[in-house]
Amino acid sequence: MSIVNLRYHYELAPSPNHGGPRPGTMGVVIHSTRGNTSSHYEEYAATLAWFSNPASQVSAHRVIGYDGGGAICVDDDLIAWHATDHNTRWLGVELTQPRITDPFSEAQYESLAALLKEWASAYGFPLDRAHLVAHSEINRQKSDPGPLFDWDKLMGLLEETMPDAQKAELNRIADIFAGWAKLRHGLSDYINASVGQYGVSDTLDEREGTELDGAVESLRKLAG
Ligand SMILES: [Zn+2]
Repeated sequence: MSIVNLRYHYELAPSPNHGGPRPGTMGVVIHSTRGNTSSHYEEYAATLAWFSNPASQVSAHRVIGYDGGGAICVDDDLIAWHATDHNTRWLGVELTQPRITDPFSEAQYESLAALLKEWASAYGFPLDRAHLVAHSEINRQKSDPGPLFDWDKLMGLLEETMPDAQKAELNRIADIFAGWAKLRHGLSDYINASVGQYGVSDTLDEREGTELDGAVESLRKLAG
């Protein structure tokens, strides 16, 4: 997993166009939107609107816009409707691209690479060209993401790993959070055990401590 994940925000834009849980995951189909709007930003909005419309019968797990931020349209574990008979075993991601002649941004490549690393580690597939495919490669009627999509650039970004100094920094922050979590759990235990004594009348739930535990886990995962 890469620190790059922290840079790009995904909003929730749920699509009704999905099936149940995927029985397995072969890899990822990379798409581009080609909605023929006049900008990447209009394209992003139009894509979310299209995916949220039950009549369209299409979706993808994620959409990545020009600034690298994106949307989660279908839960990663469910079947999205992006590649016909491949849907049951392939994740799908759409990059905004109004027309075939519009280039992708650096942020789109970086955000895509971060997402692919996250998915590869969650679902256990290798980051190679057998497991990362263009829509055009599995469906000959399709041409996306097309000639402007730079596979060499993407594969180069996927080979980049986090510098050791960054890993160490993440682990240091995780240690601080872990200490804080321990203190918060201890405080809950102490207060809850003291109800009825020393004038203590309210309990203190463990929720904040549990959230801190979650943050520690996420930071350790990011540090790899
Ligand atoms: Zn496609």
